Amino acid sequence: MIKVVCIGHDYTNDLYELLKLFFPSQEIIILLETEEISYNNDHDQHLLFSIIEHLENKVKAKAIIGDKNNEIAFCDEDIIINYNQSQIKKASKLIVKRTVFTALSKLIKIDLPWGILTGIRPTKIVHELMEKALEDYEILNILKDKYYINEDKAKLLLSVAKKEHPIIYPIRQNLVSLYISIPFCPTTCVYCSFPSNPLTKWQHLQKPYIDGLCKEIKEIAILLEKKGKNLQTIYIGGGTPSAVTIEDINQLFKQIKDSFQLAKLQEFTFEAGRPDTITREKLKLLKSNGVTRISINPQTMNESTLIKIGRKHTVEELKKAFYMAKEEGFNNINMDIIIGLPGEDAKMVEKTMEEIKKLQPSSLTVHTLAIKRGSKLREDTSSYTLLQKETSNMLRITGKYAEDMGMTPYYLYRQKHMLGNLENIGYCKEGYECIYNVQIMEEKQTIIALGAGAVSKITFPKENRLERVPNVKDLQQYIARVDEMIERKKPYI
Ligand code: SF4
Repeated sequence: MIKVVCIGHDYTNDLYELLKLFFPSQEIIILLETEEISYNNDHDQHLLFSIIEHLENKVKAKAIIGDKNNEIAFCDEDIIINYNQSQIKKASKLIVKRTVFTALSKLIKIDLPWGILTGIRPTKIVHELMEKALEDYEILNILKDKYYINEDKAKLLLSVAKKEHPIIYPIRQNLVSLYISIPFCPTTCVYCSFPSNPLTKWQHLQKPYIDGLCKEIKEIAILLEKKGKNLQTIYIGGGTPSAVTIEDINQLFKQIKDSFQLAKLQEFTFEAGRPDTITREKLKLLKSNGVTRISINPQTMNESTLIKIGRKHTVEELKKAFYMAKEEGFNNINMDIIIGLPGEDAKMVEKTMEEIKKLQPSSLTVHTLAIKRGSKLREDTSSYTLLQKETSNMLRITGKYAEDMGMTPYYLYRQKHMLGNLENIGYCKEGYECIYNVQIMEEKQTIIALGAGAVSKITFPKENRLERVPNVKDLQQYIARVDEMIERKKPYI
């Protein structure tokens, strides 16, 4: 167990996430100085004091690790302050994290390529620095010196931010993106914690769900039109949208077409994630309704793993679906894979990448397995140990293959509980960057999200802030309360 006592600050969440990097499986207790600190005789117990003092013109931070009688690691740092309150808070949080990180690094030898960064969107930092018109080398130095990010990751961040920049800027406030959630899947994958309901159990709600969704689409479209907002992109995700019947997909497309002016739409994605849900008929329907981008996701090209993770399709089915989509004229196909799946080693990842290379999709999204709350794997972490080095190696392999396929990284995000504390990376061939993926990640554009479990993100660029407006997750609740979901969004559109 490790106990942390915060003195002079309350950055408890930030410290908790940072401590989790060093002590992934230990209990961490964070206390404020006002709380009573109890000691016990357990030798494994560490006590860490994170102290910050605000002096007249500087902030001073210290991290002291010790037990009851001994100080075993120490770090201090101070910064001169001459900025406004919010900048002082940001800078204070940074030095708190840096001092704790440095003190812990003296004790525990662990490779943390992302340094003190625990957030989901590390590219945001680079965009902020780019806005200050800093040179590349200055940005790289800040990433390394202030955030302790290693050279490779710092370069990766900078190159991704540069790819994203022309997609995000200039911000056009009359443009929004639309996310439509179809939270049904044929079965549930073991690592899943998305809104997903197996059709084996919930098929009877499919039709009422689509009816409810169509109502939400219709009403939200009226609101958007009144406010002069146009759609830049539509993303139909889930779940597995292609899992529902062709009649339901047809009804959905009809509603979208009746509700929105689509002439200026720049991108229309439909996730056809599971190959066992794809038919030629459905592909023709997608094509004739203007879908420009689809996703067909292998996750792995190893049959034994597919069985283990609960995906009821074969590698052959995947390939067949991919070629069928090509025949139907889809030239923008994304593939998702996951590294760190149970039982997979670097060789198996290589095999997956060899097979993908033969198919040559336009883009590839590489996820590092995150053991999320709610997934079956989380309940069984003891049988699931994968060395950090192995995961990094796998990530390197996928990067090398992506490069061989002529792809470069164009978006990136991180999640909590990721194996090896790594990242998810979207690669693509030139011109196949998914606009929606960049917009949702960088949070500079309003995303209106419809359907059960969908969370709208409303941006206020002038105030540099964002508000989330969630829909209920439960299918039955959504169907019963769709009017309320529409009402919830009204003040924000
Ligand atoms: S296909 Fe995706 S959404 Fe569906 S169960 Fe698997 S991980 Fe979850």
